[in-house]
Amino acid sequence: MPMVLLFSFLLTGQSCQETVLVDYFTDNGLGAAVKTMQHPAGEYYKGVTYIAYQGPTEDPYVAAYSHRTGKWKGPFKAGESVLTGKEPGMIDNHGKPAMIIDDEGYIHLVFGGHGGTPDLGINPLGNYCRGQMKHVVSKKPLDITQWEELDNISPFGTYNQFVKMDNGDIYLFYRHGAHRSNWVYQLSTDSGRTFAPPVSVLQTKQTTGNEEYPDIHDSWYAWFENGQGDDIIATYNYHVCKGPKHDGERHNCYYMVLDTKDQIWRNVKREILAAPVTKEEADEKTLVANTGDLWTVRGAVRLDDEGYPHIIYYMGEYMGLKHGGPKQVIYYRWTGEEWFTADSTDLPVATGDILVSSPDEASLLLAAKKEGFAELTWWNTMDGGRSFKKGEVLYHRSKTGITTTSIIKNAHPDARVIISGNHKGDYKKMYLIGDKGPVQRLMSEAHQIDK
Ligand code: ZN
Repeated sequence: MPMVLLFSFLLTGQSCQETVLVDYFTDNGLGAAVKTMQHPAGEYYKGVTYIAYQGPTEDPYVAAYSHRTGKWKGPFKAGESVLTGKEPGMIDNHGKPAMIIDDEGYIHLVFGGHGGTPDLGINPLGNYCRGQMKHVVSKKPLDITQWEELDNISPFGTYNQFVKMDNGDIYLFYRHGAHRSNWVYQLSTDSGRTFAPPVSVLQTKQTTGNEEYPDIHDSWYAWFENGQGDDIIATYNYHVCKGPKHDGERHNCYYMVLDTKDQIWRNVKREILAAPVTKEEADEKTLVANTGDLWTVRGAVRLDDEGYPHIIYYMGEYMGLKHGGPKQVIYYRWTGEEWFTADSTDLPVATGDILVSSPDEASLLLAAKKEGFAELTWWNTMDGGRSFKKGEVLYHRSKTGITTTSIIKNAHPDARVIISGNHKGDYKKMYLIGDKGPVQRLMSEAHQIDK
């Protein structure tokens, strides 16, 4: 037997753990390691899926999976979050990374923000909370091992999201501070090396209070994505930011479009909006659904091949809880004339994202926590949302909950989303999931946290 073969035979025989495959790619996710809000959390680019999540001490971590070789790289720590250990035992969870790859192949992450603090300067567009929004970029194209920090964005952001246009322009959307802050974007036309000052999109302002809540501000939660051509589309909901007794009361669902050619926001009928959009303007011109007393969480929006938006959001009763009770997935689509929903009761209590092909066909990829198990499942409609049927289960886990990202940018079918599931204490096992289920990895590589 040649020496090399003999050697590899001995290695294989000696350690069976070296060959054991597991469903997770790492076990060092921390807290709410991923969510749909901070997105894209990953991107498929030239045969590789690059992914980011919140790891130890709330720092951003990046891993990469080559679909050609079946090999994993990382995770590598990509930056230093100042949210780390601000208060003992507390995980802030707002500073999860969003990722974009520029036209030269450099990988950008924005992370670490939850509104910033007064020592960072005056926040002209809102109020403070914690953290500092930061921007890091890979030192070399498509190399996740080394990163450098760029001081070129506002430190006051949170809920960071990237939208990259076909011409290479990069829009960074975020809320410019804590609850009582405008939503804004900063535009980079040089692949993220510089960003123009923040431009306000949604307006926060004092509104009419009452005896129980004398101090109320209009506040927003928003989610941005590529639309048709030069458009950026947005769906959002309204937060009644009350004082002094504050809770997570949020209502309604809204939709609007930014034409990046003229930087003008329009509604679904292409009527021009006065920006930044106020609560009054939003109610009059951008409302998808008035949910009355029911509470909502913003979801996601994608366009069909007619260019019409399909939206999901989450809705439930208040139930005396700080953030309301369980919220069912609600689906709406624009028919060209009106917003249509069947108020389907088919859909579960879950969060996720949506893929749309034609006006009649949409597939929702939803992470649901149920009694005794959690699963990531396709829910499909073939009749324009009149009915939904449960499709393939991509991941099923007993006992514990899972959380999911939005769908990865330009996703390969084998790697649609990143999900997290409970592990030890605050640590989570992290999974890259596609139509064939989890992308597996050698246990010896995926096992990180006790090393
Ligand atoms: Zn608030």
